[in-house]
Amino acid sequence: MSCPSQLRLDEWMLDRRSAEIATHLPTCARCTERVAVLSAEREAFTLRARPAAFVDAVFARKQKRTWRWPWLALALATCALIFMLRPRAIETGDGYKAGPPDALLYVKHESTVAAYAPTKRCVAGDVVQVVVLSAKPIYVAVVDVEAGGKTSVLYNADTPTKAGRASLPRSFELDDWRGGETFVVLFSDEPIADPTASEARGDGKRYPIQR
Ligand SMILES: [Zn+2]
Repeated sequence: MSCPSQLRLDEWMLDRRSAEIATHLPTCARCTERVAVLSAEREAFTLRARPAAFVDAVFARKQKRTWRWPWLALALATCALIFMLRPRAIETGDGYKAGPPDALLYVKHESTVAAYAPTKRCVAGDVVQVVVLSAKPIYVAVVDVEAGGKTSVLYNADTPTKAGRASLPRSFELDDWRGGETFVVLFSDEPIADPTASEARGDGKRYPIQR
């Protein structure tokens, strides 16, 4: 192939999707140099835009997403949650003893757990814990919806969570995905046969994840 345009090269830096460019690069000193310049520019921008500790999480992007289920992190997060979440759920006067089910999300970044906020940025390695508040036992599923519409079922229980307040027995570690995505928490009185279809109907509560 002839040398790709600046735009195509820039896009490739983001998604690494073009096999053409990947095979072209090792054969072309000019493009290799262009990629080095783009990388440096991007790195400089990221250093300005974000705390340095976050930089490494920002660049690499996997071709395929693999969700990790950090059991240990869950145990740690749960310990932290006991201390950190108590105020909100209990001081609101056990509101979950009546009314529709709800979910609270908590994000563990390094050793700190904070309540999910739609505007707060998450980075690769952060662990998301879902806590369900429900007046009665309820089936819960969690679906990840990428900006392009691709969905992954992260969790779908075959037993209902207990009434009251229940941490899902699994937490979700964010990978280095850089596209937009939303966690959707679905509730049902019956087992959820097809969480993706429920999500597509607009069921559930949505939590956009900012990167
Ligand atoms: Zn070239």
